Amino acid sequence: MAATTVLNKQKKETKQEKEGLNLFQSTQTIIKKALDKLGYSEVMYELLKEPIRMLTVRIPVQMDDGKVKVFTGYRSQHNDAVGPTKGGVRFHPEVNEEEVKALSMWMSLKCGIVDLPYGGGKGGIICDPREMSFNELERLSRGYVRAISQLVGPTKDIPAPDVFTNSQIMAWMMDEYSRIREFDSPGFITGKPLVLGGSHGRETATARGVTICIGQAAKKKGINIKGAKVVVQGFGNAGSFLAKFMHDAGANVVGISDAYGALYDPDGLDINYLLEQRDSFGTVTKQFAETITNQELLELDCDILVPAAISNQITVENAHRIKASIIVEAANGPTTLEATRILTDRGILLVPDVLASAGGVTVSYFEWVQNNQGYYWTEEEVASRLNTVMVDSFENIYETSQTREVDMRLAAYMVGIRKMAEASHFRGWV
Ligand code: GLU
Repeated sequence: MAATTVLNKQKKETKQEKEGLNLFQSTQTIIKKALDKLGYSEVMYELLKEPIRMLTVRIPVQMDDGKVKVFTGYRSQHNDAVGPTKGGVRFHPEVNEEEVKALSMWMSLKCGIVDLPYGGGKGGIICDPREMSFNELERLSRGYVRAISQLVGPTKDIPAPDVFTNSQIMAWMMDEYSRIREFDSPGFITGKPLVLGGSHGRETATARGVTICIGQAAKKKGINIKGAKVVVQGFGNAGSFLAKFMHDAGANVVGISDAYGALYDPDGLDINYLLEQRDSFGTVTKQFAETITNQELLELDCDILVPAAISNQITVENAHRIKASIIVEAANGPTTLEATRILTDRGILLVPDVLASAGGVTVSYFEWVQNNQGYYWTEEEVASRLNTVMVDSFENIYETSQTREVDMRLAAYMVGIRKMAEASHFRGWV
């Protein structure tokens, strides 16, 4: 490898690690603020500012060419005072320790916000599934479960899908875990295919939850969803289903994007056509000649903006130019703390990620409950329970933000962290 390539690679890794660190540090900053507002002591912050457990594993995988490649994986468990930890596993080349830690803390907050009997967990493997075969992915998924099996389980820590992982990967992981334990363990993991104990509505749950938040936020702002102009950044699991749900509800989806670019049509895009064109990684814009950049997309004239892609998209650089009156964060961490302040000062209603994207883990919880009781619900039952949870959670946080005079993000953190702090206190830890 040429010296410059090595140098560039090192630079890139440092940048990713730095982003993970930023995410982690900004999460700590708001947790501290939330605990202070709630009147908890410094020692409670000492307990909750880091995950209680973080496992790093090395996973040897035989690749299709016969050579062995060794992957690095993580599983972070933030706090298990409320119950077992819960959260997805992401397969991505930019996974890093700090990011996994921060994401596990976010899972704690999400579970607290929607009032689930869980603490937060998160896992990740540094890999690029876009460049791996089906068989290689299966061997990697099974190897990861063997490596973390001591620390996880239906009453300990329950994984789920996340970025670039899906129901097939959950099925392999469940099968591997069941083999190790020597009994069928559907409750070990959620996001499974329906025939293996998956739940109706799990695949679309994150987008459904975001849609419900948009509905509530629109009511507060007096915006009618029918005819509202919507921009969605990202066309993965959350973004693509969300674009469809908004389109079906009569909204005018004028912009969408993927990692390679964005599409804009002031008269509304043909979402059903774009869904047919999208690949399993959410890529759709490559085949179109006329695209705009992701940055231009965020600044389009619209009523509702949904960042559903990656973190740090709305920053001090562009927060002043955002035209939407509602921003609903379907991605994790798309808006920086400083940008949150600017947007709130401008009167924009920002529904934070830890609330907006909690629909996924909510239906994961429903899946786990159904696995534990061995009795399964209809699609309508799942949808109606999800609706109740999301509407109540939104209202609770909106109300907290009004009465405590804080922005929606801090209100969400206050609601999210309170249950964990109380449980840690009752257990006599702090
Ligand atoms: N990965 C999803 C999230 O970040 C879902 C987690 C789960 O279902 O446990 O919320």
